[in-house]
Amino acid sequence: MASTDEQPFILIAEDEPNIASFAKMYLEAAGFRVEVAERGDDALASIEEERPDLLLLDLNLPGVDGFEVTRRIRQGGGAMPILMLTARDDAVDKVVGLELGADDYVTKPFDPRELVARVRAVLRRADAPAEALDADVPPVLEVDDLRIEVGPREVFVKGDEVALTPKEFDLLTALVQARGLVLSREQLLEKVWGYTFLGDSRTIDVHVRQLRRKLGGACPIETVWGTGYKVPARR
Ligand code: CA
Repeated sequence: MASTDEQPFILIAEDEPNIASFAKMYLEAAGFRVEVAERGDDALASIEEERPDLLLLDLNLPGVDGFEVTRRIRQGGGAMPILMLTARDDAVDKVVGLELGADDYVTKPFDPRELVARVRAVLRRADAPAEALDADVPPVLEVDDLRIEVGPREVFVKGDEVALTPKEFDLLTALVQARGLVLSREQLLEKVWGYTFLGDSRTIDVHVRQLRRKLGGACPIETVWGTGYKVPARR
């Protein structure tokens, strides 16, 4: 956020007027400044011009769809938080959206209190990404062929940079920092996403899978069945 005395600005990209105005009403009541774009191309133009603090994004949009909107934001290196709006039974959409770099999703029809709580959590985390890290993190973390430069948020495998989304970076860093310890999905949600109340762990699992795909054999994350994930202790 630009400054603390400014209202955070949320862009809603949603072509269903009822859903857009319902979300807008509750978010405004919660103290946010809100605009609605009914098309994906309009949303991209607004993002370029107005730099919203958070994008609430329907996937099935006219013009440019939500997947493409997400891809373009992340390709340009944008770290703006993206919360997808998805239909309850669209498991594939959720996974694809997360893989493209959305931070998380909210299922329609949503409880407005949950929406506001999620938006607040995502903004809090985006405003202070360092909170996901312990106070005394060394500036560089290394595990075998993997090197994490914490300040510039860059990750290298054998010297080659690997492009990670903001959440992939935070998740990897949290696990590497906790080296040798198992972190449960709940602990990771709290550490990286700022949620403490969420029952759905698909978001975490998709991000871990993406890290494994992007880092290949250099990915140090192990699944601990029934518990969570860990990076093994130094040998
Ligand atoms: Ca739609």
